[in-house]
Amino acid sequence: MPSPQKIIVIGAGIIGASIAWYLSRSGASVTLVAQQTGGVATPNSFAWINASWGNPDFYFHLRHRSMAEWSRLQKELPDLPLSWCGGLSWDLPEPELDAYAAQHHGWGYGIQPVNRATIAMIEPGLANPPDYALHVAEEGAIEPVAAAELLLADARRRGAALLTGVEVKGLLREGERIVGIETSQGPMRADHVVLAAGAGTAALAASADILVPLETPPGLIVHSRPVEKMLNGLVMAPELHLRQTMAGRIIAGGDFGGTDPGDDPKAAANALFAKVQARLKGGDALELDFHTVGYRPTPKDGLPILGGVETVDGLYLAVLHSGVTLAPLVGLLASQEIVDGDEEPSLAAFRLSRFTQLGSEAKRNPRDALPQS
Ligand SMILES: Cc1cc2nc3c(=O)[nH]c(=O)nc-3n(C[C@H](O)[C@H](O)[C@H](O)COP(=O)(O)OP(=O)(O)OC[C@H]3O[C@@H](n4cnc5c(N)ncnc54)[C@H](O)[C@@H]3O)c2cc1C
Repeated sequence: MPSPQKIIVIGAGIIGASIAWYLSRSGASVTLVAQQTGGVATPNSFAWINASWGNPDFYFHLRHRSMAEWSRLQKELPDLPLSWCGGLSWDLPEPELDAYAAQHHGWGYGIQPVNRATIAMIEPGLANPPDYALHVAEEGAIEPVAAAELLLADARRRGAALLTGVEVKGLLREGERIVGIETSQGPMRADHVVLAAGAGTAALAASADILVPLETPPGLIVHSRPVEKMLNGLVMAPELHLRQTMAGRIIAGGDFGGTDPGDDPKAAANALFAKVQARLKGGDALELDFHTVGYRPTPKDGLPILGGVETVDGLYLAVLHSGVTLAPLVGLLASQEIVDGDEEPSLAAFRLSRFTQLGSEAKRNPRDALPQS
């Protein structure tokens, strides 16, 4: 029997954890290397699982498929802190809400128009429900750090080695192949390296002269102190997206991705929290506990970067926003592509090679194109 492929996964956020889990399940010999268990963007996420508006059909279908994969995974790992709590949205003008509903209904999304009375039944805690909204019962949320930790623990149970608190300093490149990594504890060699380092991906790719065009916009999220149940599901109101975590905290952003906190994050957090209080019955009693500013690993065109690199073998990239929604499907498809060597047709639109039209200046020197934040 051939010995299993040796695979290094860089990153222990929701994406690295998922890829390591699916790889270890497929019998590969996995070593995960990361500075921070649970990730960097992952702990600062709103963590809404959705295939909501604003995306082309091929990206909608990827997201929708990943929602189904979360459900499947939940059966295999019943302790996943995942709730299919549904999402209520009215953060667009009514004609745009209708266009969104018609389009997504046609694509197979479980979306329903709801009136004020139904909204009040779905979310009795809302202070001033709107006359009209859309409800998607199949949307959900997850506690992303706990989910990543659970995947990592189970990957370890299946034989994966976890090296955390270890800095990866660069990729080891020999000619047209990535053969391993250089770390704070010395070099490590492998058959494949998976780069799932979130915002750290661009710098590590640049160490092997590979340009990954990435932006890292900041996103502010406020967290209340835990309270009794006030919300049943996700609420996407104009300029305010909120949900209640399993620990009972109301968390909110100006948008699910958070908004730029500007020069004074504390003042921005206080102003945002005042909107949360106004939106909920009994909101005055809510107390702001803390706020987070996360940096979202976002490829320049907003779509995930998934797959190998044309110019080198032995490297697999997985960097994306909406990583919480997409983690299980990315883990599944990446593990299949790496272990079986087959190209997954549904990932064709998400390859790094789509950026080859970029300016020659950036192509000549990838390090000049690293994100500044
Ligand atoms: C405010 C905000 C709201 C969001 N809301 C949503 C949402 O509602 N729904 C959704 O689907 N997505 C959302 N996202 C996006 C989602 O959270 C991210 O796409 C996802 O968390 C990325 O996970 P990751 O594992 O790729 O990266 P990260 O969580 O950032 O993890 C990166 C990992 O790589 C490691 N690493 C990096 N560089 C190195 C190095 N040199 N050496 C060793 N280790 C290294 C880190 O230590 C860490 O373990 C949101 C993000 C933010 C910030």
